[in-house]
Amino acid sequence: MKALHRLDMPVQFLKGVGPRRAVSLQRMQILTARDLLYHVPRRYDDASTITPAAKARVGSEATVVGQVRSTGVIPTRAGLRIFQAVIQDASGFITCSWPGKPWVERSVQRGDRLLVTGPVRFFHGPQLQPREFVVIARRDEDERATSVREGAAATASGVIFSTYAASEDLPQWVFRRLFDLNLDRLLRDVRAEEYLDSAARSELDLPELSAALDALHRPATIPRKDAALRRLAFDELFLHQLMQARVRHQATAERPGVSLRRTNDLIRVLHHSLPFTLTGAQARVLREIFADMTSRRRMNRLLQGDVGSGKTVVALFAMLLAVEAGCQAALMAPTSILAEQHAKGIGKLLEALPCTLELLTGAATARRRREARARIAAGEAQIVVGTHALIQEGVEFRRLGLAVIDEQHRFGVRQRMALSERAPSADTLLMSATPIPRSLAMTLHGDLDLSIIDELPPGRRPVATRIAGPGKRSAIYDELRRRLDRGRQAYLVFPAIEESERSDLRAAEAEFERLCAEDFAGRRLALLHGRLPAEEKDRIMRGFQRGAIDILVTTTVVEVGIDVPNANTMVIENGERFGLSQLHQLRGRIGRGEEGGLCVVIADAETDRLAAFARTTDGFEIAAADLQIRGQGDFFGADQHGHTIELRFADLFEHQDLIGPAQERARRIVDDDPELADPANAVIRLQLDRRFGERARLFGVG
Ligand code: ADP
Ligand code: MG
Repeated sequence: MKALHRLDMPVQFLKGVGPRRAVSLQRMQILTARDLLYHVPRRYDDASTITPAAKARVGSEATVVGQVRSTGVIPTRAGLRIFQAVIQDASGFITCSWPGKPWVERSVQRGDRLLVTGPVRFFHGPQLQPREFVVIARRDEDERATSVREGAAATASGVIFSTYAASEDLPQWVFRRLFDLNLDRLLRDVRAEEYLDSAARSELDLPELSAALDALHRPATIPRKDAALRRLAFDELFLHQLMQARVRHQATAERPGVSLRRTNDLIRVLHHSLPFTLTGAQARVLREIFADMTSRRRMNRLLQGDVGSGKTVVALFAMLLAVEAGCQAALMAPTSILAEQHAKGIGKLLEALPCTLELLTGAATARRRREARARIAAGEAQIVVGTHALIQEGVEFRRLGLAVIDEQHRFGVRQRMALSERAPSADTLLMSATPIPRSLAMTLHGDLDLSIIDELPPGRRPVATRIAGPGKRSAIYDELRRRLDRGRQAYLVFPAIEESERSDLRAAEAEFERLCAEDFAGRRLALLHGRLPAEEKDRIMRGFQRGAIDILVTTTVVEVGIDVPNANTMVIENGERFGLSQLHQLRGRIGRGEEGGLCVVIADAETDRLAAFARTTDGFEIAAADLQIRGQGDFFGADQHGHTIELRFADLFEHQDLIGPAQERARRIVDDDPELADPANAVIRLQLDRRFGERARLFGVG
């Protein structure tokens, strides 16, 4: 049995916690002493953020700290009841009012010390309308002695007010009280959990864990609080990376690959016959991939690059390395059309090379598929391009050395790995055209190694992008018709396929009928959406590719799909309904032809997102803006393995410099001691167990 650590004691054993408070704490997910210790304030105010009451200006936001002089509820003619409190500090008074919230009366009393934050408006004089308020100290509770003393000391030295997440039955002052009574003891206990020695701490510029928690609960200054938060952020990132390092270790080191021998016989020929030179970024990621493939470790690498950055040719070089070494290589794409496109492009590049190519998709006849499988099993097919058929139809490779997965997010986790699992030691290269910031990629995909192509081949003309109001639609359609008259094709993109009762979406289905009959009468239109059967989608895509369709009216199903260089115009309706990276993916479909691409987004209002979209065509810039606008929580629905990633303290912008060191350290530890069996790693095991519970079983913990 595991010895119960003191920090894992249930909260009711803490001073000041009786059975009732224990229940209230549990309701806030605070079950143990550790949970309480890590319940750090959610906001801090000091002189730099607090406004003297007399100086709160109408039209600004203010935070005021003062004592409640009087309170009352006043009715208005409209029947709204307003709670008001007059607050006094050293500078003077301000009236605070809570329109429509008479119940606040129950929580605010004369003599209380209050912190209020909100806009200052003018109603018979300046009034602060608190968005949030905190009772820092109570006038008439038994806790008064300590709390008021603390509050007074804080104001006297001009220090910091911290605000805990609290609840109706556990107000601020209760948390203050609990920490007054217990913090020193808890900090002594947490010292036993320090896993960074002083050398590591100074290298990372991080405080000791107990000092950090002390500073978070009782900060002397805001910068000290920030430094302390960095420590908790690091711990969080590091533990998360440890879990991922363990997965990585299992996928790569515990099932060693063969180190492939690079002869350059094929690679050199391709280099010479390429109609272009590789970009610096392509050359760099190729070096990373080659290093993995020629090492003993199994490769499990994610290649990220924007649409058009030239991932395919990188994959081809990697596949040739496998072939040179006497193995086969396979590339799996999510649709038949994409697979065919790859086979065609790769076939052209392979013309001068002694290397065979096989295409295997569900679209081929049963007989052709059987023959293809036979050539793959015999090893006659050296490079194999295909769809899910590669993992579904009992395909046997004679000797698979490399599995490449294109548009990897279109496959499930199991599917992604299923291809390389066909061989005991095949390397895996996952490709993604959805750029995400490196900090996010390292956090989401910490179990993979990362290669990034952050440069487009020279000479690409960025797609011209405009945001327009619905009033401009007919002018836009005029321009679209002129482009069609020049023989070009276009996409019209809608956010949904059926008119929804609740919203005013100009749905694709309804709109399609109208477009055919009116705006684009006489042109060839087709409607493509996600609810169509796969064969129907395929048929329409092929028609568009052939040029038999002028305008493809569609939804986000075209996000990933065929390249039709002749289609260089895209009009997106209800632009405000799309996510930023979705818009970017859509735009990636156009702009490959000779004539410059044009993307027009029709939207009711210009939003931050749309402004960012129009500002740049760089996928990584878009991704960074997306992260900033949506916040990191949005990206952490579930990681590759279906686990939710929860970061309470780490901020991927604020703490991005910590992610690399956290990953490096985690990988080093797991590579040396995969089971964390070394007593020196016992503290880390404990923390992993506390944070991840069940999931930490990967380490045999728990
Ligand atoms: P993606 O990364 O979207 O898969 P592709 O591999 O399809 O991009 O490449 C897009 C186009 O760019 C292809 O026609 C390819 O031949 C071309 N290309 C790739 N690398 C270069 C390069 N270094 N210079 C010029 N053109 C390139
Ligand atoms: Mg591609």
